[in-house]
Amino acid sequence: MTGVLILQCHGCGKVFEEARGALSRYDNKTLVCSDCGVEEGMAQFVAMSNGINPKSVLMAPAKVDWAALDKASV
Ligand SMILES: [Zn+2]
Repeated sequence: MTGVLILQCHGCGKVFEEARGALSRYDNKTLVCSDCGVEEGMAQFVAMSNGINPKSVLMAPAKVDWAALDKASV
């Protein structure tokens, strides 16, 4: 095993080094890029602030249901 493993993010399609990826909160096993990892975290924070089950705002790894969050926060 040599070199750096490059993966493609499930969320945004960007490629990233495996070591820089973040474990998706959706299933705790899919690696997503760090940007999407942060986005998942933010979405879950917003969900919790609005009394929504944080799990329910992730439709898939790095796929955040921002529309549901928008609706909840108005
Ligand atoms: Zn991404």
